[in-house]
This record gives sequence, structure tokens and C-alpha cells, in this order.
Amino acid sequence: MKLVDGFQRRINYLRLSVTDRCNLRCRYCMPADGVTPIGHEQVLRYEELERIARCAVNLGIEKIRVTGGEPLVRKGILPFLKRLGAIPGLQELVLTTNGVLLPQMTEALRDAGVRRLNISLDSLWPERFTQITRCGDLAKVLAGIEAAEQVGLPVKLNMVVIRGFNDDEIEDFATLTRQRALAVRFIEYMPAVVDDGWQQRVVPGREILTRLQHRFELNELDRSGLAGPSRDFRIAGAEGSVGVITPVFDHFCERCNRIRVTSEGKVRSCLFDGEEVDLKPVLRGAQEGDLEALLWKIVANKPQCHQMSGTEHGGNLLAGAPTMSAVGG
Ligand code: SAM
Ligand code: SF4
Repeated sequence: MKLVDGFQRRINYLRLSVTDRCNLRCRYCMPADGVTPIGHEQVLRYEELERIARCAVNLGIEKIRVTGGEPLVRKGILPFLKRLGAIPGLQELVLTTNGVLLPQMTEALRDAGVRRLNISLDSLWPERFTQITRCGDLAKVLAGIEAAEQVGLPVKLNMVVIRGFNDDEIEDFATLTRQRALAVRFIEYMPAVVDDGWQQRVVPGREILTRLQHRFELNELDRSGLAGPSRDFRIAGAEGSVGVITPVFDHFCERCNRIRVTSEGKVRSCLFDGEEVDLKPVLRGAQEGDLEALLWKIVANKPQCHQMSGTEHGGNLLAGAPTMSAVGG
């Protein structure tokens, strides 16, 4: 039977985090002093992740996004992706990455069955990029994007827009789509690290769209079947597209079709809801039970809507998860 929650939402999208480790330290994702990594024994082995994926596909999951931390830093990721890509019934295998290691991996990723890359990129200015990632080299990510285009892997660029920091680059990012078949998506900044006064730093999606409409002629695109939460547009005559993802000011809970599994094997039905079901004891034989029942349990309790809004105070609102990198974005 296919997964459906208590509000008749069909759950067909799994975000699977394969590691909590990362080769960057983005300011909006991790605290300045980093995070204590999960012990190696606690991180699920590839066989365990694959068991979860197969079980989820049996229950109607059609799209799997591999994420992290940074998924490309985990040893053995390519053979793992290949095994995931071969699961009968899975329609889309996609990957979210910071792009740093992409230049040497794009061909292998395509051959492993990855259909599309989401690459996180928040600035086109080298110094600003290093500032936001605390250590990253923009040239490597740009080379990664080009390498993906060269091997024919479709690319979505995710830009987290932060007022007073990179919102002056919105139009430059949109301009990239004129000559290149890139899908640029502007994401509302979410309070995932302690950041008092974060509300002032969120640029609402509708403001982003107004700014884009001021500068470009935008035509809205239809939403396709397994499309994510973004509202997408094409600048007249452009090769690529632009879109906004608005978790804060215009949440998309009524269309939410996803569950998340962390690299330690905890499944969550909502980024902003603390309920988790631990799959590891069953995977490792320490507890009786079956995975299907555990996935059903979390889906049955999926909240109708998250409670986070642009008016809340305080810091990390990820409800129990230490960081965005731990929960996979
Ligand atoms: N390391 C990979 C990457 O950066 O693409 C995958 C993991 S990252 C946690 C997944 C996504 O979460 C990225 O696109 C990142 O920009 C987004 N993200 C992390 N913290 C965020 C925040 N505070 N607000 C909005 N998006 C955030
Ligand atoms: Fe790493 Fe991605 Fe988080 Fe940046 S957003 S610190 S690249 S996990």
C-alpha cells in the first residue's frame, strides 16, 4: 500500500542524508565552532541506507534525493548511488551538493543514474562566497557547475537569500539563466542556527518575485508531477528558469509530499517538527519490528502544517535537530 498521511497527502519523496560531515561550514547551516560529528558506528552503513530506500520505494516513494552534510565527501558514494538508481520503481534519483568536489565526479554521477544535481551557491563574488562558507573556493563550485553542464546533467542552483548579505545578487543570479539552461531557485533564509533578529534577514519570496518582475519579463511555468515546492518562471527568451521557495512566508505544507531520513537513521516527517522514529534498532536487529511499520508510523503522524513563521523569535527552530547539515536540508 502507498504511503498517505492523515491529511490525504501522498508521500512519494524521500530525502536521504548519507553523512553529517561537510567540507564547508556555511554560516546559516552550522554554528561557527562546527558540530560534533556523529560517531562512525552511529552513521548508517550503505547497506542499511539501501534497505530503507528499497522499503520506501515499495511503499510508493518515487523520488529520492541524496543529501547530507556533503554527500560527495562520503567514501563509496558512487557505487551506493548506482545501487539506489537501480531500485525498480524509483523514478528519480537526484543529489544535493555544495559542488566543491563535482569537477572530478560529474561523469561518474551521471553514469551512476543521478538524474539532476541541486548545487548550493549563495554568491557569485569570490570573497563573499568564502565568507559565507567560512572556507570555500568559488572557482571550484563554478567549475563543478560547468562540468555538470558538459556531461549533460541538469543543474538547479539553490541560492539562500539573506538580506543585507547577498540580496544584491538576485538579479545577477537570474541573469545566469538567460544563456544557460540552469534552474536558479531563491530560497527564503530559515533560522537553522541561533540568529536573533533573523526575521530581518529573510527576504520574502514575493519580494524577490517583485524585484525580478521589475527587471525582467517573467512567464510562470506549469508544475510537473514530481516537482518540489518551488514556483518557477522563465525570463522571456531565456534558456533556464528562476523560482522561489518560500518555507517561511508562504509555506507549502498542504502540498508537502516528503519524509527525511538522517544519516543516523532517524526518520522525520517535517523539518520543523521534533518527532523522529529511529530505524537503527530494527535495522541492526536490536529491536523487533519492521521498517515498513516504522515508516507508516511517522507518516501517520505527519503534522498538517509547521508552526514556524516569520514572526517567531529566537534561534534554531529545527525542533530538536542540532543543525541543517544533520537533518539534510
Ligand atoms: N551540503 C549540501 C549542500 O549544501 O547543498 C547538501 C546539504 S545542505 C544542508 C541542503 C540545503 O539546505 C542546501 O541547499 C542549503 O543551502 C540549504 N540550507 C541549509 N541551511 C539553510 C537555511 N538556514 N536556510 C535555508 N536553506 C538552508
Ligand atoms: Fe555543508 Fe551544505 Fe551545510 Fe553548507 S549548506 S555547511 S555545504 S551541509
